[in-house]
Amino acid sequence: MLSTADALATLLAAARPLTDAAHGSATETLSTFDALNRVLAAEVVSPLDVPPMHTSAMDGYAVRVADLAQGSRRLPVSQRVPAGHAPQPLAAGTAARIFTGATVPPGADAVVMQEQTEAADGEVTILHAPKAGEWITAQGADIKNGAVILPVGTRLTPAALGLAASVGCATLTVVRRVKVAVFFTGDELTMPGEPLKPGAIYNSNRFTLTGLLRNLGCEVTDYGIVPDRLDVTRATLREAAAKHDLILTSGGVSVGEEDHVRPAVEAEGHINMWQIAMKPGKPLAFGAVRRPQDANQAAADEAFFIGLPGNPVSSFVTFLLFVRPFLLRLSGATHVSPRALSLRADFSQAKADRRNEFLRARVNPAGGLDLFANQSSAVLTSTVWGDGLIDNPPNHAISAGETVRFIPFTELLY
Ligand code: AMP
Ligand code: MG
Repeated sequence: MLSTADALATLLAAARPLTDAAHGSATETLSTFDALNRVLAAEVVSPLDVPPMHTSAMDGYAVRVADLAQGSRRLPVSQRVPAGHAPQPLAAGTAARIFTGATVPPGADAVVMQEQTEAADGEVTILHAPKAGEWITAQGADIKNGAVILPVGTRLTPAALGLAASVGCATLTVVRRVKVAVFFTGDELTMPGEPLKPGAIYNSNRFTLTGLLRNLGCEVTDYGIVPDRLDVTRATLREAAAKHDLILTSGGVSVGEEDHVRPAVEAEGHINMWQIAMKPGKPLAFGAVRRPQDANQAAADEAFFIGLPGNPVSSFVTFLLFVRPFLLRLSGATHVSPRALSLRADFSQAKADRRNEFLRARVNPAGGLDLFANQSSAVLTSTVWGDGLIDNPPNHAISAGETVRFIPFTELLY
């Protein structure tokens, strides 16, 4: 059996970023507004200082510190500076009425907040001896002209888009979306909305997996349910390979099962069947499907193939741990590994498993972790109840109070 770390390392080593020459034209330039969740293909360099001038951080009065060295003093108000207006230089021995975000007049070297002043009849009494720079945000305090504010490989969060916009960046060059084809094997599968015949179950993986792919910004083609037949499976693989970077399937990769995924991928490309020492999960298939020669001259000659187990929790967890980082690597993202937290287990689990367990757990109000009672790989309830996975190493029993490695779903679902 393969360790989770070795399986992940093998997958990541195989994932050629789309920006590699083999994939052809892989970048596009988008309006900054449309670039949410995409990966930057060209760094963003600031063409200006932010803020572009010294600004006031308070509503109050801009002053010269030297005028107030003796403490409290009454000064004539020589100008009024709202945000968005250019001030005059500040005459010595005067104060300027100023507002948050407004440009500090040349010559002024501090702002006194209005709560520490008393204004009357065109004059202001300053009740406080400010230090130089007080309540002034210096030009370039956030960003210096010429600084790289977003490097290549950054995933564009709302905050990253705001940062790009703050330097006036109206367009961004990003990696194109990863194109993923997905289908679901199993004669027992039925779509919600249709009656359930005896022995049938609903195709929940279709919703979980396409949702996860969309969260990651992939372009998804959903081929739906593919019956347990070799010819149909092969035809679907061929069609999907021509137009996609990755073909993802669920079901039919368990050992000893009479399934058609393995022979179909073998006939159309190549496949490795992995037994990973993990729970849930275990079977995972990784390979590639050949593309028709004339499909796209500039594209790679194979589409990647990943076959996930059919059990709903297994396919969910193996997607999070293996497919997500694989897709992020394809899309050129720098950070592909989820960040884990060290948290206290508020439960005990006496029985050690020889596999690496990924336990559905959630954070309780005391900051510790509670465990979902039923950890079966068929019990999808655990994935909604939980807010992350405990990564429990092989052969390790958990005692209450012990610190465990917890990967929040916020690090895995996007
Ligand atoms: P398999 O990996 O094909 O042996 O399937 C393992 C288990 O997962 C079986 O109980 C299947 O019925 C179930 N399963 C397979 N595919 C799906 C699916 N798309 N949605 C929900 N359950 C599934
Ligand atoms: Mg099956």
